[in-house]
Amino acid sequence: MGQNAVVNIILIEPKKRDKPSDPGLAPGEQQFRSRLTGANPTLLRSVQRSFAAATYDRFVPKHVIVTRVSGKLAIGCMSDDPVKSAAQDELLQDTAFAYNQPGELNIIAIDQQPCGYNASGGETGGYDVMDSGEDPVVNARSFNEGVFENTVDHEFGHGGGLDHAGTATCTDAATISNCALNPTDDPLSLMGYTEADSAHRYSYPELAKLGLIRDDEVQTIAEPGLYTLHTMNQQGSKVLVLDTGKNEPPIYFSYEADPTAAYDEKCIHDQNIDNPHDHYSSNPNVLSEGSNGTGQKFVCLAVNRRPLKNSVQVRAPEYSPAGSVNDAQNFLADVLRPERVPNTFDPQPETGEIKAGTVLYQNGTYTVTLRSIAGDNAVVQVSPTTGA
Ligand SMILES: [Zn+2]
Repeated sequence: MGQNAVVNIILIEPKKRDKPSDPGLAPGEQQFRSRLTGANPTLLRSVQRSFAAATYDRFVPKHVIVTRVSGKLAIGCMSDDPVKSAAQDELLQDTAFAYNQPGELNIIAIDQQPCGYNASGGETGGYDVMDSGEDPVVNARSFNEGVFENTVDHEFGHGGGLDHAGTATCTDAATISNCALNPTDDPLSLMGYTEADSAHRYSYPELAKLGLIRDDEVQTIAEPGLYTLHTMNQQGSKVLVLDTGKNEPPIYFSYEADPTAAYDEKCIHDQNIDNPHDHYSSNPNVLSEGSNGTGQKFVCLAVNRRPLKNSVQVRAPEYSPAGSVNDAQNFLADVLRPERVPNTFDPQPETGEIKAGTVLYQNGTYTVTLRSIAGDNAVVQVSPTTGA
């Protein structure tokens, strides 16, 4: 797929459509549906712009088209059951096959709700089987303005080999030990579920995995010394990779936009602002809301907004530190952030800032320290680990 491929939305309108069971969202869905079937130019431009913004203009679709496939399929609601959903996926991929445009980005939009879509959950708006080469699939749960674009970008990421983006909160962040992992809780990536307001982007390491950062913008740390990280609008390295080749996962360092550095987070219990079953809120200050494990309502809000900032970020893929986390996850954990706990009611402020002198990461070979930050550059110092 080229960096200005056409986005071909294959809209499958089945013989019989399941009605959404939540009346609160139906009008928006209906309006969106007519925009999609009518290939509304504003909607198509919005899909195009969303890809461009998410990739810092590294992937700007030439244009976006809708290919309608009507009345050919009796498929029913989108199942969560692994066997049923695999069978449905095969049907969808087979149906879409004849409408795929070779070399372009083909995305299936199936006009069916998830089976469990009601007050008790079932909110999955799409899926893609990682590295399968299949078309990403977006369902009618995402048939709302903004949500659709976000879901398409997210599923495109899966198609490019990205898993969900998480956070690791570690007692010792530098050595990444004693960590609690949340596999979908990276507010700085659209591959997480808790994406911050205005963060709708892939992280730099994710862009590298998607092939959207040039080879000469990724620098492998080969020996002790000073290394400079640049933000996306500057010449030079965007990602430093520490790879000791000693059966440890590579660690990614980047210096990039961090919208969560621009507000504090405040959670209030016994309160919802919008539909508590809706993962997405129309209120830009709502970071998350819903019910916790015991059914108590909560809403978490962005407060004390400040100008946008960059932050140094550290990510580790396939991260599975011994003794602290059971299941290895193939996500890029953001290991240095303070704990982010939207489902509890701790009004802990989150600044996302890391000060000069902070040890970013340490293993038996190297210690990586933040030396300085100035505008669009961050300098890190790589030293041999002493006393190891
Ligand atoms: Zn996903």
